[in-house]
Amino acid sequence: MSLSSDIKEYALCLGYDRVGFTTADRFPLLEKELTERSHMYDWMASHFLRAADPRNILPEARSIVVLVHDYYRHSYPKNMVGKVGRFYQSWGGTPPQPIHQARNRLLGEFLGSQGCRVGLGLPSRPSGARAGATNYGKNCFAFAEGIGSFINIIALAIDKELEYDTPTLDVRCPEACTLCIDSCPTGALYEPLRMNPYRCVTFNTYAIPGSYFGQGQEVLPLELREGMGTWVFGCDVCQQVCPRNQAKLKAKLPPNAYLEYIADDFHLERLLNITNEQHHRMYNLLAINYINDKRYIRRNAAVALGNQGNKGAVPALIQAMQDPDELIRGHAAWALGRIGGSQAKQALEASLSQETSEYVIGEIKAALAAS
Ligand code: SF4
Ligand code: SF4
Repeated sequence: MSLSSDIKEYALCLGYDRVGFTTADRFPLLEKELTERSHMYDWMASHFLRAADPRNILPEARSIVVLVHDYYRHSYPKNMVGKVGRFYQSWGGTPPQPIHQARNRLLGEFLGSQGCRVGLGLPSRPSGARAGATNYGKNCFAFAEGIGSFINIIALAIDKELEYDTPTLDVRCPEACTLCIDSCPTGALYEPLRMNPYRCVTFNTYAIPGSYFGQGQEVLPLELREGMGTWVFGCDVCQQVCPRNQAKLKAKLPPNAYLEYIADDFHLERLLNITNEQHHRMYNLLAINYINDKRYIRRNAAVALGNQGNKGAVPALIQAMQDPDELIRGHAAWALGRIGGSQAKQALEASLSQETSEYVIGEIKAALAAS
């Protein structure tokens, strides 16, 4: 048995679905993209550029081990679909989903037992394609053959030579298909294999001040709010429309008991008034740890309620107009303007007469003009 086959066997045994190996050479195409589109990636360009050379992660790196995990093994509660991306419901990305963490830890321990030094933080999609484990879709996602794009990729640098797999760097979409680009609600996906994160719903739901994603923003850009639909964390649109994912989306899968247990927390009105306890639960067990302050979940829920357009949400939004946090009042005003109707209009007019925040006054006036 070789080290390559030992790693592959152990990883498959742990529940990873695909395993591939590639060299620790740098990723010149990634470097080129990041340099040419630095205005779109300024929030993380230096980190990504550094990771484009595996030897910056592990100076003695010789190989990259790629592990692909199909996270879509269960159905998702109806109440969470269209609000939270499936990845964030299923995985834990960085921390803290315990099962995935345990699998990664076991794999790391195994590599250590084989005398490997390990480096984390490599670019996952370029690593996956070069290791023959995934290929590309025009929607910028990586696809694993026979699974689709609802996958998580882990790429590890190690200091040992392996037997390398044949790269699969190609785009395997039907030539004429542009469904993902046509369906992107904010125009973030502007051409095959090109996405502007600043326009992406996912990025905008959690790129908040002081987060992992750089400066972030408090107030959601006006021009993107309608396109955000009912998404509160993430967005799956460009994966949901994809023909390469339809087999998975239509499969009859068993429910996930944990998600069913917490699904009630995801009614939009409950999210608008999310408690510390609810936030703690989401923060620790879903990948919602990007939002470390529940006011941003409340902000996103207000916009989602506006886009849902249900007049039944007007009383909750009127109540939010009394919130001490101007961020919540401002986005609730937008939502009331979007829903419209006499009750919403009266509430906006009443709020305008007593509002002291210049920011919220601007939101209310714009909402009144729209309603
Ligand atoms: S995740 Fe949503 S907003 Fe972002 S590129 Fe895909 S469809 Fe567009
Ligand atoms: S929607 Fe079509 S073009 Fe987009 S990733 Fe899927 S197959 Fe490719």
